[in-house]
Amino acid sequence: MKYRNLGKTGLRVSEISLGCEGFVDHDGTLTPLLMDKAEELHINYLDFYTPNPNLRDRLGKALAGRREKFILQAHLCTTWKGDQYERTREIEKVRTSFDDLLTRLETDYIDVGMIHYVDSMQDWQEICHGPVMEFAKELKAAGKIRHIGMSSHNPVVSKAAVESGLIEVLMFSINPCYDLQPASEDCNDLWDDKNYQSQHVNIDPDRESLYELCEEKGVGITVMKAFGGGDLLDASMSPAGVALTANQCIHYALTRPAVATVLSGAHTLKELEISAAYESAADEEKDYAVAFALMPNISWQGHCMYCGHCAPCPANIDVASVTKFLNLTKAQGSIPETVREHYSALEHTAENCVACGACEKRCPFGVRIIDNMKEAVTTFGR
Ligand code: SF4
Ligand code: SF4
Repeated sequence: MKYRNLGKTGLRVSEISLGCEGFVDHDGTLTPLLMDKAEELHINYLDFYTPNPNLRDRLGKALAGRREKFILQAHLCTTWKGDQYERTREIEKVRTSFDDLLTRLETDYIDVGMIHYVDSMQDWQEICHGPVMEFAKELKAAGKIRHIGMSSHNPVVSKAAVESGLIEVLMFSINPCYDLQPASEDCNDLWDDKNYQSQHVNIDPDRESLYELCEEKGVGITVMKAFGGGDLLDASMSPAGVALTANQCIHYALTRPAVATVLSGAHTLKELEISAAYESAADEEKDYAVAFALMPNISWQGHCMYCGHCAPCPANIDVASVTKFLNLTKAQGSIPETVREHYSALEHTAENCVACGACEKRCPFGVRIIDNMKEAVTTFGR
C-alpha cells in the first residue's frame, strides 16, 4: 500500500481507504471482518458518516484495541431521528450527536471532523459564520477533532470553503462523469440522464479549478463515489456508455491534483480486495486513456487528463507531471511555492525535450505536448 500526504494535516493516508457502506448489514457481522481486512491490506483511513447508533456501537467494538491503527474521518451534523439518518445544522443536535459518536466509538478523538454534506452556498455561509463552525473550532481546540473537514458534491461551494481557510480536508465526489457536470445544489443532477445527452467537452472548469485550488492551499481531498455507486463499472448503467474498471476509476481519481485517498464503499470483503488490488496492478490496467477516448458523447480533446499514456519519453520527462505543474501555475497566474518546489525536484524537466513528437503520437486526447514543454521552460526557467 502506498501512502500520501493528506494536504497539510501532517497525516499520511493509504491511497485506498474504507467507506462505511459495508457496515450496513443486517446482523453486523461484516463490520469487524471489514476492519480486519482493511488492517490486513494496510488500509489506514476510514470514513464514517452514519449516526445510526447500532452501526456506531459495532464500529466501536471493531475498533477496540486498534484505534491508533486507523485515521478516522467522521461527520458532524448527522443525527438519528425515528430510525432515519437526518442532516442537521441545529447546534444542540450536532453537539449531542458528536458526543454520542465519541461514546459509541469508544474513543476520545476523531482525526478529521467532516462538516457533512454542504452543497448550497447559503448553507455554507450559514455554517462558516454560525454555530456549526464555532463548534468545529471548539472541538479542535479541545483536541476532540484534530482537523476540520467538509463533504460536498458542489465545486463552487467547495471552492468557497477552501478559500476561507477554515477547512483542511475536503471529501468530494470525483469520477470522470461527475467531472463533466457544472455545479449544482442538487447532487441528483450528477446522475441525471438528461445531463449526459448532449456532447460534453472536457472537465467542468469549476471542478478542475477546485482540485488545483486544493493543491495550492494544501487542502487534502478524500474521494467518494469514484465508481459512481458502481454504475461506471457497467456499460449499460454508465452515462459514459463504456464500462471502466475499478483500477481505471481509482487511477483517474488519484491523478487529480490534491487527491490523497479514494474511499472504497465496499459492501463485501471481495470488493475491498478489488479496490486494494489497484496497488499491485500493472500500469496498463490502470490506464484509463483508451477507455475515455472511446466514450460516445464525451470529448476530452486537447485537454491533459494526467493519464500518463504518452510515456515513455526518450528524454525521461514525466510529461503528465510537467503538464500538471504548468496548468497549476496558469490557473494561479503565478508560480505557487509548492509547485516551484515540486518542479525543481524533477530530475528531467521540460528543457530536456528534444521535440521528437513520440508523446504526441501516443496521447489519445491530442494534447500539444511540445508546445506545453516550451511553455514550461519559459515559465519555470528550465
Ligand atoms: S499529454 Fe496526453 S497522454 Fe500525456 S498525460 Fe496528458 S492526456 Fe495523458
Ligand atoms: S516530444 Fe519531448 S516530451 Fe515528448 S517524448 Fe519527445 S522529448 Fe519527450
